Amino acid sequence: MSISITETSKKHVNHNWSDSELEGSPGIERLVKRSNWLGSDQRITNTGGGNTSSKLIEIDPVTGEEVEVLWVKGSGGDLRTSKAENFASLYMTDLLALQKTYDAQPEKGPKTPAEDAMVGYFPHCTYNLNPRASSIDTPLHGFLPAKHVDHMHPNSVIAVAASRRSQELTKEIFGDEIGWVPWLRPGFELGLMMQREVEQDPSLKGLVMGQHGLINWADDDRECYELTLSLISKAAEYIESKDKGEDTFGGQKFETLSNDKKDDLLAELLPWLRGQVSQQKRFIGTVQSDPTILRFVNSNDAPRLAELGTSCPDHFLRTKIKPLYVDWNPKTEDLASLKEKLASGLEQYRADYQAYYEACKHDNSPAMRDPNPTVILIPGVGMIAWGKNKSESRVTAEFYNCAVEVMRGAEAMDEYIALPQQEAFDIEYWLLEEAKLKRMPAEKELARSVVLVVGAGAGIGKEVAHRVAKEGAHVVCADLNLDSAQATADELTGIYGQGIGVAGTGISGCGPAIGVSVNITDPDSIREAIKQTLLAYGGIDKVVVTAGVFLAPGLDGKNSEDQWKLTFDVNVRGSYNMVDAVRDIFKEQGLKGAIVLTTSVNGAVSKKGSLAYDTSKAAANHLVRELAIELAPNVRVNAIAPATVVEGSTMFPRDRVISSLAKYDIVYSESESDDELRSKLAQFYAQRTLTKSPITPADQAEAAYFLLSNQSSKTTGLIINVDGGLHEAFLR
Ligand SMILES: [Zn+2]
Repeated sequence: MSISITETSKKHVNHNWSDSELEGSPGIERLVKRSNWLGSDQRITNTGGGNTSSKLIEIDPVTGEEVEVLWVKGSGGDLRTSKAENFASLYMTDLLALQKTYDAQPEKGPKTPAEDAMVGYFPHCTYNLNPRASSIDTPLHGFLPAKHVDHMHPNSVIAVAASRRSQELTKEIFGDEIGWVPWLRPGFELGLMMQREVEQDPSLKGLVMGQHGLINWADDDRECYELTLSLISKAAEYIESKDKGEDTFGGQKFETLSNDKKDDLLAELLPWLRGQVSQQKRFIGTVQSDPTILRFVNSNDAPRLAELGTSCPDHFLRTKIKPLYVDWNPKTEDLASLKEKLASGLEQYRADYQAYYEACKHDNSPAMRDPNPTVILIPGVGMIAWGKNKSESRVTAEFYNCAVEVMRGAEAMDEYIALPQQEAFDIEYWLLEEAKLKRMPAEKELARSVVLVVGAGAGIGKEVAHRVAKEGAHVVCADLNLDSAQATADELTGIYGQGIGVAGTGISGCGPAIGVSVNITDPDSIREAIKQTLLAYGGIDKVVVTAGVFLAPGLDGKNSEDQWKLTFDVNVRGSYNMVDAVRDIFKEQGLKGAIVLTTSVNGAVSKKGSLAYDTSKAAANHLVRELAIELAPNVRVNAIAPATVVEGSTMFPRDRVISSLAKYDIVYSESESDDELRSKLAQFYAQRTLTKSPITPADQAEAAYFLLSNQSSKTTGLIINVDGGLHEAFLR
């Protein structure tokens, strides 16, 4: 078998190997590079899927002698983004000695407690106190004799692995040098099975793993890498030669909606659908509507294939055993009938899931998990995937994309078969998986939620965006100025990372924060901002409005007609418009929600010189109380009432600061910077308060966060003064 990378094979995989990039790198760095190269191509392996290893000679820290060490991708890593610290390291002699330990067990075999118990021995084999936990696939790498091993989840090879004639196809496509092993849950026994295969036929260079993927090896790392690529290409070329063209998935049954219609429909559907699947725990959505997924959901075979479920265990841990497909005609049926069909589909899905659990459970199985689907397929529209956060829901969508590619390949060559239900269950409810879930850190206060912050481009709004993101929220940064909204969103993405998922169409391919423009005096602009929010994340849980205007009166001390109008348009009607636009969404979701508006202590303290502003804020105070009544019981409406937050505020431009300094006879010089002048004014204001400290945007954000969080779940219709203590603003 030739392992050279030909031009045709480069069509199916990216060849990234570069000797010059590796020059002088130690063995572990070569392994990291190889892993990153492999993981960067979705056709080679999926996010988080597959693993790589090298058996390297290292120096023992105790004896100073040379020892053979297995470096293998550790538990929970991702090849594309892995660094050296993501690899576990084990003494080869110790790892191999575990076979004797296992052999001595009275009751052993696949899926026995003795097999699972072997995982507990891996830490004892650790080389050089490496804290990275070994993955369940460690024996596969350790028990194969070759120096370098790649285990990948390529769609093209999983298609071979998930075909009815998998074993024959393996021989037909790869010849004699690639063997085949039937499905076996990853673990110690699978490692032993592979070891036996190689003992029986030392000429083997790799194995197709039934229902799972590919594993191959070589004593030279470049040879191993290129073998991986050539095997994946061979499978892809074979599938291409059998491609059914127009008849793929039995041909098309439904037509795709136009982009505008699709987005309109999704914006109306998503909040309701999110509410339906979030009955136990909230989910964040990802929409996928590219031609590949549409060809599947629109096809004649989609209902049959969707029902079979996904094959690769990596896939279905996220996608669940099967997706929910809804038989709805986008051309002849409307949104109401889609909802009706989804409602009964969901009911059936939950019943099926319960039946699967009851039929497959063991005495010691963990309790049944959330029975709602994580993948929903709608003809003409595409796929909606759900996960506990944006990254997870994108991974879920990515995995079903993979499943579709696997089914396409398998159905082109032969017939797609899914993993037997019991095997799927034994992975999904594996006690080792359960232990892993239990070890996960507790979720943050605002995890699984979407917070829309109006005014996020600067000042209090920007601070609120940062505060809620810190608590795990997905943040929609909205501002009249799109660039500043986007800048805040970019800051948040920079801090919290884009996530590892790679799926999602259009804005749905986003990270933990997006920036949108909004003019709250314009209901159309609000509708568009909300639509983007829904397409990005599938719903909204909380809204904070910090946008407001202060228009200084003219020399006569009076506000003009236009100033009065704009002040009330933004400070009162704007907040109302925003709440009015989300109230139906909250209703559709049927989940608890919270709104925080921003008024001002000026709404309670009467004084000279800001009549329009002060009366608008008094109106806003009462708006909070009335909305609290209107939106009860599911949505709480509260407000923060700041006073004189000068730092970072767009309401205090340089000339307003200077005119205030002059008004209060505070000494200043024109040469002082904006920040110096602001700080002077803030110090002056601070002296008028009971606590004598300047009031910052962070103080406001903390109060807003409290009112959004569950800590204030019994509080609505309240306005909290965050003013440093102004006795004029005390309630009376
Ligand atoms: Zn695997």
